Amino acid sequence: MNSTLTFKELESQVAGGSIDTVLVCFVDMQGRLMGKRFHGGHFVGGAWEETHCCNYLLATDLEMGTPDGYASTSWERGYGDYVMKPDLSTLRLVPWLEGTALVLCDVLDHHTHAEVPHSPRAMLKRQVARVRALGFEPMMATELEFFLFEKGFDEIRKGGFQDLTPISGYNEDYHILQTTKEEHVMRPIRNHLWEAGLPIECTKGEAETGQEELNIKYAPAMDTAEYHSIAKHAIKEIAWQQGHAATFLPKWHHDKVGSSSHVHQSLWADGKPAFHDSDDALGMSDLMKSYMAGLLKYAPDYTYFMAPYINSYKRFMKGTFAPTRIIWSVDNRTAGYRLCGEGSKAIRVECRIPGSDMNPYLAMAGMLAAGLAGIEEGLELQPATVGDVYQGDTGLIPGDLGAARTALHGSDMLRAAMGDDVVDHYARAAEVEIEEFARVVTDWEVARGFERA
Ligand code: ADP
Repeated sequence: MNSTLTFKELESQVAGGSIDTVLVCFVDMQGRLMGKRFHGGHFVGGAWEETHCCNYLLATDLEMGTPDGYASTSWERGYGDYVMKPDLSTLRLVPWLEGTALVLCDVLDHHTHAEVPHSPRAMLKRQVARVRALGFEPMMATELEFFLFEKGFDEIRKGGFQDLTPISGYNEDYHILQTTKEEHVMRPIRNHLWEAGLPIECTKGEAETGQEELNIKYAPAMDTAEYHSIAKHAIKEIAWQQGHAATFLPKWHHDKVGSSSHVHQSLWADGKPAFHDSDDALGMSDLMKSYMAGLLKYAPDYTYFMAPYINSYKRFMKGTFAPTRIIWSVDNRTAGYRLCGEGSKAIRVECRIPGSDMNPYLAMAGMLAAGLAGIEEGLELQPATVGDVYQGDTGLIPGDLGAARTALHGSDMLRAAMGDDVVDHYARAAEVEIEEFARVVTDWEVARGFERA
């Protein structure tokens, strides 16, 4: 882990008064930082060993509801505690908040102190351990796309989410002039995250009005998931500090391009890229080919982890740079899987399916499980597709949350890799979203049918 603060340094900064608050957090099913704000003195005085939280936090939804149907917890079982065990190797400063540090926790069973298997951090750890057992290190990078709005979260919410005016008036893809006007938000995002120890590469304008992208340098998978979670949180907080809202909703308007979170992947061995083979026409090793064949074969199984909400599926539209098909291609942004850095040591596969709403721990756990299955089964990679991959209707990405839930629930591969309890837990989470959406009357139905139905 890429800590910027040792425990000893924290102790002395708390004693000296430059840090007074420690955010003790874990990453929940939705990818959010959840936890408590500790007084620095209490944290270094003993709370660093463990603290506790209600176990509904890994069986809830974005509204903090208490949906039924989870085996892990319920009203019947009394919604007891989990242990939050700080992983001190994740300690870092939070430079955009005064006098504040942050630590991430593992979530443990209250009685046995075993890791809770459906906790996102435990799920990714488990797949990374499987890759490491084969002698490889998974190196990943996630891209964060989001939209910035003129107004702040509170004002937009109080207005019923009607006044959604993006921060810019035109498509700002790679646009230096327009992004200069957004530097009061984007510059502190880059600089504060850098200071917090995240290897920030760059930000850029994206291909829609008000759309932004943040790139972070590739790193071991657990670090990348941590960077992503902290960066997403920071983007919302820093935008809020500047009076704006930042949304990671993948499709906030049907006529606008959506936001994605592409995942770049490569396996390394002894500090060298194991996906590279200079004798191959495209520079791909056999290992890479079977890993990619696994990614493709099992894409429907782990689509839920890349697209966990009803809204996620509205992003997959032809001609928007979002993919529609489970197909690979060479440096081609119309495909679900894009080969990048071909012929070079930077060779990697970019999965373009995940939306900006993905939980990086879950998405990467699903991808690694699929890639490993490809290696273990010795799968052969079909030749790359060329041209406009939007043309064609084979290998479609599951079309909605229901289809993704069915594929997840029926996945023998994921059941073997993650455990039945974990798969059943997340299949239930998908159902909860579907049930809630079926219950609620939307603006669209009212506008369409109020007078004319
Ligand atoms: P793009 O063509 O998508 O703009 P970039 O050059 O910006 O590609 O790289 C996108 C991401 O890929 C960056 O976050 C970078 O750190 C990451 N990346 C580069 N090399 C590798 C690699 N070998 N494995 C995984 N990710 C990588």
